[in-house]
Amino acid sequence: MSCLETHGTPRPTGDGALDFNPFDTMAPRAPGEVPAEAKNGARVKAEGVAPRGVYLPNDNIQTPNMRSPDYVQVSTAAAISLGLMGGKMHRCSCTHCLNLLLTYPEGCRANCAYCGLARHREADRDYADRNFIRVDWPAVPMAEIVDIVKRQGKKTSFHRMCISMITHPNSDADTLTVLKTWTDRIDPSDIPVSILSNPTTMNRADVVRLKEMGADMFTVAFDAATPELFERTRGKTVDGPHRWEKYWEVMGHAAEIFGPEKIGVHLIAGMGETEAEMLTIVQKVKDMGGHSHMFSFFPESGSLMDHLPATPRDQWRRVQLGRYLIDYRGVRVDHMRFDDSGRVVDFGLPRAELEGVIDAGIAFRTSGCPGKVAEDVSACDRPYGDSPPSNIASFPFQPNKRDVAKIRRQLNLPKVEA
Ligand code: SF4
Repeated sequence: MSCLETHGTPRPTGDGALDFNPFDTMAPRAPGEVPAEAKNGARVKAEGVAPRGVYLPNDNIQTPNMRSPDYVQVSTAAAISLGLMGGKMHRCSCTHCLNLLLTYPEGCRANCAYCGLARHREADRDYADRNFIRVDWPAVPMAEIVDIVKRQGKKTSFHRMCISMITHPNSDADTLTVLKTWTDRIDPSDIPVSILSNPTTMNRADVVRLKEMGADMFTVAFDAATPELFERTRGKTVDGPHRWEKYWEVMGHAAEIFGPEKIGVHLIAGMGETEAEMLTIVQKVKDMGGHSHMFSFFPESGSLMDHLPATPRDQWRRVQLGRYLIDYRGVRVDHMRFDDSGRVVDFGLPRAELEGVIDAGIAFRTSGCPGKVAEDVSACDRPYGDSPPSNIASFPFQPNKRDVAKIRRQLNLPKVEA
């Protein structure tokens, strides 16, 4: 079907590093002990400082005692778009997805190795002050967020709202309350709602309830692409509660209850899986009726993987392109070919068609639940959530000609013979 070969044997990049992140290199360090006086948000609860409106991380001497469903955290991009923070984002005027994180003084109870919100960070940072996907997350009263979006009306920049559940005993109930606070005042057909779920605490009835209460899409953050990686970064190895099988169980409920085109998964590329393994799970999700929302691994400061290399750009561009072809261009993983390091050597598409997909640039934009532009353009643009602006991994805007030229250099495809 195709005649494109990209690589032969594994090769080092110019600085001697490999052009992919292998499993053995990407081992997290073990979590340290948390002193008793810092466990479960003890500092915040002991001080009991009452919250007063918006809380900007690291802005107060003592983090206030804020708790969902009254409070949620919003991304820096969303806070700027809501007018709650000043500042500008490189080449973006706003974000199109209002990402909300449930928040508690005791924080997320999981301990995922790549995550800035993980429990082991209790030792050095109160929950509301922790960085997550490279940025701060201000805490805001939920009622204030709804007030602002209601006031913005048709002028709002948001194409979608997303509730991220984190892992907490109250998060199932609080997600429903936050969803109701939204749908009571904002028509979900104007701004649809996605749920970024926490399968560990959920059962089938929870998924049904979310659908009944007006959620439009249901997503599962697997993050790790293989069972071994999942265990090593999210399971018992790091004192975490998550299990691969449970995630697939809830994903199965979601496929049945929400249906085709209304489910998705989050995956982080470059944590030690091969490109073949990553694109195999992308295919599995596609065959279930969903799409993969993919991030490039970035060593989050303070996480158990902050000493490890970010995903090399060539690995990232290959899986980004492969994901897009599977999700939106009818290519199957079994049409592709891989070398003995699992890297893509053939994308399974005639060269001229592949060139057209690369030129269009959409494959290299941030992936996520769709907004109001096109099915393959994500509302969730997460500006610079997986890279600095100086070397963009996921483009939060349409790449221009110069961007596409850089992407082409990073993909390093062989020249076509004249
Ligand atoms: S469950 Fe989610 S928020 Fe909690 S530590 Fe894991 S990745 Fe981070």
